[in-house]
Amino acid sequence: MNEEVIKPVTRIFCDFDGTITRKDSGDEFFRVFGQFDQLHSALIQGRYTVVEYYKQICSTLQISSQEAVQSFSDNCEIDAYFTQFLEYIQSKNWTCTIVSDGFDAYIKPILNRIECNDLHISCNALKQDQYSGNWFPIFPNADERCKCFCASCKMKVVLGTSHPDDMIIYIGDGLSDTCPVHVADMVFAKGSLASYCNQHGIVHHNWNSFFDIVSVLKKRSPVSRDIARKERKKIFIAE
Ligand SMILES: [Zn+2]
Repeated sequence: MNEEVIKPVTRIFCDFDGTITRKDSGDEFFRVFGQFDQLHSALIQGRYTVVEYYKQICSTLQISSQEAVQSFSDNCEIDAYFTQFLEYIQSKNWTCTIVSDGFDAYIKPILNRIECNDLHISCNALKQDQYSGNWFPIFPNADERCKCFCASCKMKVVLGTSHPDDMIIYIGDGLSDTCPVHVADMVFAKGSLASYCNQHGIVHHNWNSFFDIVSVLKKRSPVSRDIARKERKKIFIAE
């Protein structure tokens, strides 16, 4: 028999803003370089979708130089235990993908400050029109079928880069993380994501820093969550 056996892999998907960085570096980025307050309140009040908000706020960006972005990124605080977490998952041969609804412009320089060769990054892109000089966003993982509070759907990334039999661990803190937790076997949630999980009966571990996550992972091996696996299979077959 020559049948190929696909060995299930443990895959970690991890949010960026407010998860890897202590504060929401995306909000900070737009506060520093764009006209944040009014547009962000319009988003919170439901007057804009996330896509509309990003299109509007990117058009207000005034970025004087690459150095200005670099110096902004140098000042964003990274969770002190994040590198320890990366070392731990590397020792287990687990993969890690950053799933962010933020932008490459600040995510990449922030991550460049730490050693993280094996990290995959999925995020939105910030582009500049070479004639007008105006900035505009690109959403590589937009999914019109999903109604989540995102421009790029994180569940789409999780499902598109894993096999239904894989073990999926999800780490996050906010509204943009609510749809992928439905298809994850093990969830680490804080902030509004933890409230969402409580409301929807999604079993999760509360966490404050990556120290807590490493401690839990050392104590208990991830076990598959039946309902999440069924959900992944259902979507896998439908596509
Ligand atoms: Zn979604």
